Amino acid sequence: AKAAGRNTHAIFGSHMDELLSNRRALEADLRLALQTHSQLETFYQPVYAADTGALSSLEALARWKHPTLGYVSPDQFIPLAEESGLIHEISALVLEDACRMLAEVPGIHIAVNASALELASPGYALRVLGILARWQVQPNRLEIELTESAMAPEKSELETTISTLRSAGVRFAIDDFGTGYSTFSRIQRIEVDRIKIDKSFIGEMHQGASRAVVSAMISMAKAKGLLVTAEGVETDEQRSALQDFGCDHLQGFLLSKPLPRSTAITLAAGDQKV
Ligand code: C2E
Ligand code: CA
Ligand code: CA
Ligand code: CA
Repeated sequence: AKAAGRNTHAIFGSHMDELLSNRRALEADLRLALQTHSQLETFYQPVYAADTGALSSLEALARWKHPTLGYVSPDQFIPLAEESGLIHEISALVLEDACRMLAEVPGIHIAVNASALELASPGYALRVLGILARWQVQPNRLEIELTESAMAPEKSELETTISTLRSAGVRFAIDDFGTGYSTFSRIQRIEVDRIKIDKSFIGEMHQGASRAVVSAMISMAKAKGLLVTAEGVETDEQRSALQDFGCDHLQGFLLSKPLPRSTAITLAAGDQKV
C-alpha cells in the first residue's frame, strides 16, 4: 500500500508540475499577445427577442488565437488572466472593440462580460464612462454581464461601481444565473436589470425538474421586474418552452454562434434597415 501511495504521488506530482509550468508558459504567451496587440480578437454572439425573433443585442466574447495551440478557450485563459492581473487589459480591448462597434452601427446594443474582481478594481467605472464618452456612445447601449470571480472582492466596492455606472445609464445583468453565488439572495443586494439563466439549466430542460426550475426562475425574475435571457439555447423544444414561460431574450447555437466582428456588423447593420 505504501509503494502504491508513493507511486500515485509521483504520477500526480509530475502531472501537477506539468500543469503549473503550462500555466506559466500560457501566461507568458498571453502577456506577449497583449504587448504585440495580436492574437486577441472579439467575437459577437447575437441575442434575439423570444417573441418576435428580432435581433436584440450582441454579446462581446474574447477570443485568443494562440500561434501554436490555436484557439484557447476563454474558460481557460480568463481565470489565468484574473490571477495574473492581465484581465484588465483584456477587458479594455474588448470594451474598446465593443464601443467602436456601437459607434459604427447606430441603434444596436452590446453586452460585455466583467468579473466581480474587475468591477471592484478602483477606477473601473470611470474607465468605462471614459471609453463611452470618447466614442460618443450613449451609456444605455452598453450592458455589463457580471460573472463571479474566483477571487471574491469586497462587496461594497462592487456595489459602488454598479451604482455609479447605473446612474449614468449603463445596464447590468447577472451572468450564469443559478450557479455559484449568482442567486436571488445575492441580487437582493445588487441592483441589476437582467438575469441570464445559465446554459446548464437550459441544457437539462428535457427533464421535468429542470424545466420547472427554469420556469420558476423566469417567474421570480419577472415578479422582480427583471428582464430574462436564456443562454445556450440549442433546440426548438427549448425555444418554444422558453417562449411559453415568458422568457424575454434567447441566445444559443440554435440561433447563432458567436461571429467574427465583420460578420456581426453585416448582420446588425442589415437588421437596422428592416
Ligand atoms: P458566458 O459569458 O456565459 O458566455 C457564453 C458562453 O457560452 C460563450 O463561451 C459562448 O460561446 C457559449 N455558448 C453560446 N451559445 C451556446 C450554446 O448554444 N451551447 C453551448 N454549449 N455554448 C454556447 P465562450 O466564448 O467560450 O466564453 C466562456 C466564458 O468566458 C464566458 O461565459 C465568460 O464568462 C468568459 N468570457 C468571455 N469573454 C470574456 C471577457 O471579455 N471578459 C471576461 N471577464 N470574461 C469573458
Ligand atoms: Ca456572458
Ligand atoms: Ca453565461
Ligand atoms: Ca459562463
